[in-house]
Amino acid sequence: MTLEVRDLAYAYPDGTQALFGVDLRISRGERVALLGPNGAGKTTLVMHLNGILTAGHGTVRVAGLQVGKENLQEIRRRVGLVFQDPDDQLFMPTVREDVAFGPANMGVRGAELDHKVTDALTRVGMLDAIDRPPHHLSFGQRRRVAVATVLAMDPEILVLDEPSSNLDPASRRELAQILKNLDVTVLMVTHDLPYALELCERALILSDGVIAADGPTRDILANE
Ligand code: ADP
Ligand code: ADP
Repeated sequence: MTLEVRDLAYAYPDGTQALFGVDLRISRGERVALLGPNGAGKTTLVMHLNGILTAGHGTVRVAGLQVGKENLQEIRRRVGLVFQDPDDQLFMPTVREDVAFGPANMGVRGAELDHKVTDALTRVGMLDAIDRPPHHLSFGQRRRVAVATVLAMDPEILVLDEPSSNLDPASRRELAQILKNLDVTVLMVTHDLPYALELCERALILSDGVIAADGPTRDILANE
């Protein structure tokens, strides 16, 4: 099981109960959309997957390894989080350095590092930009580079927060094509229902901190 969340509950320090006993299993290769209204707990759930928040109650396992303070480095390699704003993720002078940052941090060097960088950029169609400063790229291109920074770590699961937000129609289609062709397990938080339907065979609805629906995306959207 790539991702296994069991009975996860969480309250913020001010007492707001954001999650109430969430159970969720995602198998290798699945592409899953996480839907639900603002305030439902989507961000809170995602922050538990890589240990930004630690479970008040319950467990999160990624490929068998339980998320906990003692193994955050390994967990963050396994869970590739792509933030909504690529500028939160890109901070080096060139695209090459941004994509190399994660694997270099894990001790990858030399030809193997070069290979990981070129491979990740190729997968998102951004190899031509390897020597450019990220801030010279369009927003859609920066989002693709942000995806590459995560792919370069060979994650068990790619978690995307609103991947289609702020994209023009052409960039939106391009990114959809790229995500469809990736051979990786995906969980995407989105309000973009056509995107969820196109990319994800399975959808979850989180509502008031519980999973209110889980099934084939077409059926889930038909019942909304
Ligand atoms: P998103 O659009 O990703 O769901 P939100 O607009 O819900 O994000 O929240 C933006 C930020 O504000 C997040 O970091 C979230 O943790 C924080 N936040 C949301 N609600 C509250 C709250 N009631 N008290 C304090 N911080 C909050
Ligand atoms: P979503 O991502 O689905 O919009 P969130 O996970 O951001 O939902 O929020 C879930 C609940 O937790 C909401 O009631 C929100 O107001 C609350 N919340 C989020 N962040 C904080 C925070 N830092 N402190 C207190 N409450 C928060």
